[in-house]
Amino acid sequence: MINISQPSLGAEELEAVREVFSSNWVGYGPRTRAFEREFAEHLGVAPERLIFINSATSGLFLSTELLDLGPGDDVVLPSVSFVADANAVAATGARPVFCDVDPHTLNPTVADIARAVTPRTRAVIVLHYGGHPGDIVAIAAFCRDRGITLIEDASVSVASAVDGRHCGTFGDIAMWSFDSRKVITTGDGGMLYVRDPELGRRAQRLAYHGVDDRSTFTTASAVPRRWWELAIHDVGRRVIGNDLTAAIGSVQLRRMPTFIERRREITETYNRLLRDVAGIRRPPPPPAGHTSSYYFYWVQLDPAIRDDVAEDLLDRGIYTTFRYEPLHTVPIFRADADLPGTAEAAANTLLLPIHQGLDDADVRTVADELCKAVEHRRASAQS
Ligand SMILES: *Cc1c(COP(=O)(O)O)cnc(C)c1O
Repeated sequence: MINISQPSLGAEELEAVREVFSSNWVGYGPRTRAFEREFAEHLGVAPERLIFINSATSGLFLSTELLDLGPGDDVVLPSVSFVADANAVAATGARPVFCDVDPHTLNPTVADIARAVTPRTRAVIVLHYGGHPGDIVAIAAFCRDRGITLIEDASVSVASAVDGRHCGTFGDIAMWSFDSRKVITTGDGGMLYVRDPELGRRAQRLAYHGVDDRSTFTTASAVPRRWWELAIHDVGRRVIGNDLTAAIGSVQLRRMPTFIERRREITETYNRLLRDVAGIRRPPPPPAGHTSSYYFYWVQLDPAIRDDVAEDLLDRGIYTTFRYEPLHTVPIFRADADLPGTAEAAANTLLLPIHQGLDDADVRTVADELCKAVEHRRASAQS
């Protein structure tokens, strides 16, 4: 079976975990802070702005809570979003308002966002589809001009940037995912970025029981008398990461450039092998200045044959899929929305396997089988 995604974990990660075991400290501690520092350096932000948490989903829920969203508030997000993005909005009582996407990039344009904004819009949530930055620069400027908070779901954009500036740092709040299917993984895990220092400190408290300043006990001189007294002013939860997963994260972050390079090669190989194949449309190339994480590779087919081609490939041991099923068609969020770009993309898009563990023979097999299936299904559709 050729998987659509797969983790790359090995001896270095095992050794890092072994060291944590022998240190006898597995909770939030020095390795977590080291991973936050390293990730901050990678992004070019201050380490105090980051919190290593247990998932990107926790980060999404923390964000909507931080903004004190509630009934009467609207949050605009593409219908082509991960379900947690809408769940995090709905959990507060605010209303998710779904906008359209470009049918070929599957990213929203600034015009798509603008069309969905209402006077009640408090925030916009965008992801970078497949790790491609999309219209993020213009969307950030649009939100800034109107005083609308921008949350970037950078879950799949660990290495994505525009002119050297990292995705996730254009808006006010962002999160990255280290879930098992992402480019780098800690099993479960996520990083939360909050630009505003005050809001960032509140995020720290909300992430850990409402406790103020989790660094209080790191130096002996800072230990107060009656250190067991709690200064709790926020109703917090418990979504922080730990030194075991952080140690894995540090190794994965160091290895990331080779992962991204391999994903770029696979993308270029697919582009070459699928060039000028009748019935197959390749993804648009990222614009100049855009750096991608190459998280998805997709093709667009005649909707009449897309599902059959997916089944043919599954029969040949090749797993393909579509992301993200439009949320305005999912029962809990069903809404009457006229989103032509979304409808078009949802009917014709198929994601092919892409991960750094794929070798050249796998990539050729996927491309060959895809071409055969498309040719065969097109012929039967015409007869
Ligand atoms: C994976 C993913 C998430 C959720 O990440 P978790 O760490 O599993 O909670 C959110 N948004 C997008 C776009 C994702 O791909």
